[in-house]
Amino acid sequence: MRVVMKFGGTSLADGKVAKKALEIIQDYLQKGWSLVIVVSALSQITDRLIEASEAALRRDLATVRAICQELNRRHEKFLEDIFEDPHLKDELSRFVHERMEELEKVLVGIGYLGELTPRSRDYVLSFGERLVAPIIAGALCNLGFRAKAFTGGEAGIITDSNFGEARPLMEMTKLQVRQRLEPELEAGIVPVVTGFIATDQNGYITTLGRGGSDYTATILGVSLKADEVWLWTDVDGLMTTDPKVEPSARTIPQLSFHEAVEMAALGAKRMHPRALEPTSEAGIPVRIKNTFRRDYPGTLITGEARVRPGSIVKALTLIKDVAMITVSGSGMVGTPGTAARIFDVLGRNGINILMISQSSSEANISFVIPRSLLGKAVTALETSLLGGGLIKNVEAEADVCIVAAVGAGMKGTPGVAARIFKAVGDEGINIRMIAQGSSELNISFVVKESEGERAIRALHKEFRLHEGIP
Ligand code: ADP
Ligand code: ASP
Ligand code: MG
Repeated sequence: MRVVMKFGGTSLADGKVAKKALEIIQDYLQKGWSLVIVVSALSQITDRLIEASEAALRRDLATVRAICQELNRRHEKFLEDIFEDPHLKDELSRFVHERMEELEKVLVGIGYLGELTPRSRDYVLSFGERLVAPIIAGALCNLGFRAKAFTGGEAGIITDSNFGEARPLMEMTKLQVRQRLEPELEAGIVPVVTGFIATDQNGYITTLGRGGSDYTATILGVSLKADEVWLWTDVDGLMTTDPKVEPSARTIPQLSFHEAVEMAALGAKRMHPRALEPTSEAGIPVRIKNTFRRDYPGTLITGEARVRPGSIVKALTLIKDVAMITVSGSGMVGTPGTAARIFDVLGRNGINILMISQSSSEANISFVIPRSLLGKAVTALETSLLGGGLIKNVEAEADVCIVAAVGAGMKGTPGVAARIFKAVGDEGINIRMIAQGSSELNISFVVKESEGERAIRALHKEFRLHEGIP
């Protein structure tokens, strides 16, 4: 059995937790399975690297130094918890120390230049995963296995040069991954690959976007024709909603690729929105399992949709860190091409749109974008579109979130929208914008960010999701 197993930051929070991950890997290797391991950065390290790069840009070198020291300490402690053998620990300790010195130099350089390009930002972010893979490979060697660390690029993952949200060039990637990793697997070596990062065709490090390690695992799974891809995390699987928002959330035992792709795109499990696309196209099953409860079956994502009578909404997701823009003007009414002009401006500025709605009066169009791009989007729209008589107003709201209900049982079931909006309305929550995909697999709406979790809890109750999904 060939399986790509990905351990996220939550499974690598500290050395003690990572030991559980190592035990899991050890068990399956002893069963004779052929494994490829994908690792994320330790939990929260990517966030700290983002903070460090922003501090560098402000020339706040005290913060840069403090973050570097904190990262050094966390990885040192991680090594201490994993390795009893001081010799091996010292060797990896030197490696961590050298990497951290390099990181600090890069950050100081960003400060001097006063420039943080998407390419240099990706380089900074890559340190999180690049620190972990050699440690886990070292730990596996220490357990008596043959293991070797690879960066995503070394493993053969090639992307375009869209730094920050790079897309794999799949055909070339498949070929290269096979060329580089097959011989290792055949020789009984366990490849330990950094999640999240890859390289472009010029050899520069790229990142696949936040949560990208899940994506790395599915890309490798498809390239190596794995039997399955397993994503190990800190909860029991893909659940009816985030258990940190609604504690009565239940694990969904089985989902179709369609439903799971929709859930990932809508923010479930903080997964990369495109993470399930490669395996879905190739028909490779994906399992989501709990590192802390390894025998629990978790969630299995396969081809068939199992729609049981009465199962309408299967899951609720919440996307935070988004903003809503409404563009309005009476000149828009009956003018063909208005939407195209708006979206062209956003597209040319690299702004990704998460949700769109237009009222039938045609006098306004609202859409939702990542909050970090709000300033850029408003400036671009105002400079390109105001003053031409078409658009009068560009209005922005930063403190919103998207709530989405997902489930194959919603298709063709009348009255679902009415139930959703009544349940949310009864909570006194005002809905700012609504969209339903023509797939009918989801209904999404926008509310104030402070009301998002309350909306989720109300809907979880309305659709009796605490009773579980058959
Ligand atoms: P990992 O380190 O495994 O990649 P993430 O933090 O990226 O972990 O994702 C796991 C977290 O996603 C869980 O701890 C949970 O709080 C959150 N989450 C949000 N929505 C869901 C959902 N529908 N099912 C399961 N987990 C969810
Ligand atoms: N470390 C990266 C992130 O935090 C990738 C991942 O965890 O999947 O986004
Ligand atoms: Mg994740």
